[in-house]
Amino acid sequence: MKTTAKLSFVIYSLLFMLSSSAFAQTYKVLSPDGLTYLNVKLADGKLSYSAGYRTIVKAKKKGAKADTLDVPMVLDSPLGVYTNVADFSKDLTLKEAIRPKGVIKHSYHLRQGKQSEINNEENSLGLVLTTPQRRNGGVIMTVQFAVFNNNIAYRYRFLQGGETGAIVITGEASGFRLPTDATAFICQQSDPMVGWKRTKPSYEEGYIWDESITKRSQSGHGWTFPCLFHEGDKGWLLISETGVTSNYCGTHLSDATPDGLFTIAFPMEGENNGFGSTGAQLGLANSKTSANDEMTGYTPWRTLTFGPSLKPIVETTIAWDVVEPLYEPSIEYKGSRNTWSWIMWQDASINFDDQIKYIDLAAALGWEGCLIDGGWYEHIGREGMEKLFAYCKQKGVRPWVWYNSNGAWNDAPQCARQAMHNSIVRKKEMKWLHDGGVAGIKVDFFAGDKQETMRVYEGILSDANDYGIQCIFHGCTLPRGWERMYPNYCSSEAVLASENLYFSQGFCEQEARHACLHPFVRNTTASMEYGGTVLQKRLHKEPGKGNTRRTSDVFELATAIAFQSSGQNFALTPRNLTEQPQFEIDFMKQVPTTWDETRFIDGYPGKYIVMARRHADRWYLIAMNAEAAAKTITIDPSVLGNSVGKSFTALLTDGTDGKTPQQSVPKFDKRGRLTLTIQPQCAAVLY
Ligand code: CA
Repeated sequence: MKTTAKLSFVIYSLLFMLSSSAFAQTYKVLSPDGLTYLNVKLADGKLSYSAGYRTIVKAKKKGAKADTLDVPMVLDSPLGVYTNVADFSKDLTLKEAIRPKGVIKHSYHLRQGKQSEINNEENSLGLVLTTPQRRNGGVIMTVQFAVFNNNIAYRYRFLQGGETGAIVITGEASGFRLPTDATAFICQQSDPMVGWKRTKPSYEEGYIWDESITKRSQSGHGWTFPCLFHEGDKGWLLISETGVTSNYCGTHLSDATPDGLFTIAFPMEGENNGFGSTGAQLGLANSKTSANDEMTGYTPWRTLTFGPSLKPIVETTIAWDVVEPLYEPSIEYKGSRNTWSWIMWQDASINFDDQIKYIDLAAALGWEGCLIDGGWYEHIGREGMEKLFAYCKQKGVRPWVWYNSNGAWNDAPQCARQAMHNSIVRKKEMKWLHDGGVAGIKVDFFAGDKQETMRVYEGILSDANDYGIQCIFHGCTLPRGWERMYPNYCSSEAVLASENLYFSQGFCEQEARHACLHPFVRNTTASMEYGGTVLQKRLHKEPGKGNTRRTSDVFELATAIAFQSSGQNFALTPRNLTEQPQFEIDFMKQVPTTWDETRFIDGYPGKYIVMARRHADRWYLIAMNAEAAAKTITIDPSVLGNSVGKSFTALLTDGTDGKTPQQSVPKFDKRGRLTLTIQPQCAAVLY
């Protein structure tokens, strides 16, 4: 008996080993250009993946075939989802693997963003998985992988295969394992219900700059998307999330384990004043009974963008490639340049007379709009606002109006409050705005990333679209694919924005550094409403008062190109019209806010950036230097196209001393190049 028992144990172990190796199912998916790879593995009931890019190794001997070398950027990382009916991170069995033949094309127009006409292709893999638990109610999990050139996205979907028609997602095993010597440019997640009137988290924390990925966040809550990683000579990796709707919560990354594994972290219990689940309530897809089956059962996409250089990071469109518009626009929405009194004149400027001055400023600049910020309900009143709307109409300027998202989730006192938190009051407000000719609203002070809050965002967007109104969000989460998903969505803050220049001299000292970071991280996955281009040397309504700006004038002009948002609330003031050199005002009069193309040329996050954006047939090329030393940069516009160099009629620089802003005609050398020395916190603009 004893021997038999021992033997059977040995046989069992052997079988287990055999089965685990014999039944490890592996899949490799290559991008359409064959240079980005994804490996997916199901072994011992657990699903995992790794990903990277391939380089071509030249054949050593003549006539021999060139070989490829896999360069891993994400090491073997777990996949799976925890639900209230079953644990879909273990004991998984494969029902079916779906490998469509040929590429899936994504050809679409993006009204606002870094590129207007997008034609991308993916190779895809779908896995249909089940768990053996008896009580999982027949729930089926699928995982969909999309492999683009330099980008990979994946998401889960839950299908109804039995009685269970709805589940609660309680967490995910989804992870991202990086080599431990990688460094990170990442922004920590805040504690909930802290900061100004208990309004955090709002994606307004500091970054760690090029530091070890195993560094713990101070809050202990991990890091918010997007997250940029440097893997030394191998290159760069950006991890983010897209396609978050009211069907899910926003997620972020945990702190990494000592061996380099980040996992998807869900909202914190304390968000939204502790109200609402940290998980997601998900209806299951069932094509026979659901009239909206194509939208049902999905988690958001998690996205990876990588390559040997920063070019794929700055130019990625993955956040929009894998999502779809969720409704039709009710009108044709357009980009807008707005004046904005609050940023330099603060709360005291939210009065009738000062708003008239800023409407006049918008008219003088030929801009489309004027943003009337928080406090208007108390200090201007509805009747006063209606008079301002009428004055805007007379001046050919569209009003934008600030709202508090609250509601019931924090103490932010700015008004108007209690007008955006539910559909009944919101629709009344939208009608009033529509009747006043208002182009858009800026809604502030949201409550975090819980599904409860995602429902508020989506409700505001949907109701606003019914009245032809665009939406900017502040004190808010990262928008995840929203530029395409919600046609009247405009932009979001979700960054330490220009208000901090007014509040803190320390932030002024860091302004150039942040400006040279955002095109690589925050602003590459989503529109960023920064409220920039400060042309006053001191940040205050009164001359000679307030914090001192450290950046040059041309640096500030360059941020209007570097920071992408189809709605820009610029920080120009009435004084700028008489105090600034005319060429600066002329530049701001014509600067576009929507782009047909974006190209990365050179740079390093937080140090410097050379990039270009095209609007119609005009290119704007900027070079910004955030380093402590002057930087000599040779610009070769032929990288943008053969005739682009000739199309530049103006070169803006800060002079050789960095203090003498000037416009000249660019003089290219015989090879069509231009060499410039850019002083610290200065820039050059070609257009
Ligand atoms: Ca803010």
